[in-house]
Amino acid sequence: MISKGYAVESAKEPLVPFKFDRRELLANDVALDIYFAGICHSDIHQAREEWGPAIFPMVPGHEIVGRVSEVGTKVSKFKVGDLIGVGVFIDSCRKCDSCAKGLEQYCVEGMTGTYNTIERDGKTVAMGGYSDKFVINEEYAVHIPDKLDLAGVAPLMCAGITLYSPLKNWKAGPGKKVGIIGLGGLGHMGVKFAAALGAETTVFSHSPSKESDAKKMGAHHFVSTKDVNNLKKLEKQYDLLLNTVSADIDLEPYLQMLKLDGTLVVIGLPGKPYAINAGTLLGQRRSLSGSMIGGIAQLQEMLNFCGEKAIVSDVEVIKAEYINQAYDRTVASDVKYRFVIDAKTF
Ligand code: NAP
Ligand code: ZN
Ligand code: ZN
Repeated sequence: MISKGYAVESAKEPLVPFKFDRRELLANDVALDIYFAGICHSDIHQAREEWGPAIFPMVPGHEIVGRVSEVGTKVSKFKVGDLIGVGVFIDSCRKCDSCAKGLEQYCVEGMTGTYNTIERDGKTVAMGGYSDKFVINEEYAVHIPDKLDLAGVAPLMCAGITLYSPLKNWKAGPGKKVGIIGLGGLGHMGVKFAAALGAETTVFSHSPSKESDAKKMGAHHFVSTKDVNNLKKLEKQYDLLLNTVSADIDLEPYLQMLKLDGTLVVIGLPGKPYAINAGTLLGQRRSLSGSMIGGIAQLQEMLNFCGEKAIVSDVEVIKAEYINQAYDRTVASDVKYRFVIDAKTF
């Protein structure tokens, strides 16, 4: 199946229009016409090889929403015409403990990413969502509730689930003080979910101009991180801090803000190691943890929650030809709060 999209040919080059072949449908596959694809900072890290060697040409994109155009002979979960979402992975081993628990993102053999990876047949290079069409095994796709703005739904497939999952895992809710560090694509979804779950929510941002937006999204407090003294005043106050920053910031002042048994969850992936002060961790029995996206069952749970609460991402919809500028603006923290490509423009 011929597909049109945008690809990057090497880490130093911009994205350019690209035509390629997708596989024909297997019995359990569905094909979809893509409507919107979000731009995640992980796309930029990979296109620019900030996480190590990548596979080129690369069609990035793992925040995909569209409509089913064709179903394989054994498909039972979807029918032609259904709204459908695809996220950060398209396959996993299906037999390890993690897969059995619905935690496919932690598959012991490694999840199969939506792009920049070789599929489980050992030869097909996975091509992502900056394109007009997609083919996926039905078990790795989810249903989209109707009535939500579809451009705003696309970022839920990565940014949304990546914050929903740790908020649920560490039981954010009434009586809990939660901080979201960095108000970008991931962070703004964290604010919306933390507030919707009933937690007292603080945004920590190095962009003071984002304060009124943060409050509109549901944040109760906004702290500018430009002055580290603002963090010092908040020592031993937080139950849960989620770090979504794409750059390698100093975690020490944030760990200091955790109260007894509090947890700092690392979500941003700058590609460089963090320095950790053991004394800060043991001083209040603090935990440092990490969290990666969410499994298919939780992705569906989150989408249903978004349907009930009318939660979507705040997006700037762009044409395909604007992708390279959108990358530069995202790196400069100038994104409000997710760029989403209109797939009609490929
Ligand atoms: P994004 O939209 O670019 O947001 C990142 C935010 O971090 C910025 O808007 C900015 O917020 C803050 N920031 C950036 N540079 C900074 C600096 N030098 N110092 C302090 N703050 C800075 O990126 P994203 O798409 O949300 O992704 C964030 C990170 O999460 C990326 O590293 C991405 O690869 C990773 N990620 C992880 C997972 C996972 O499963 N764990 C999933 C998806 C993405 P303020 O302006 O508010 O300070
Ligand atoms: Zn992502
Ligand atoms: Zn597995």
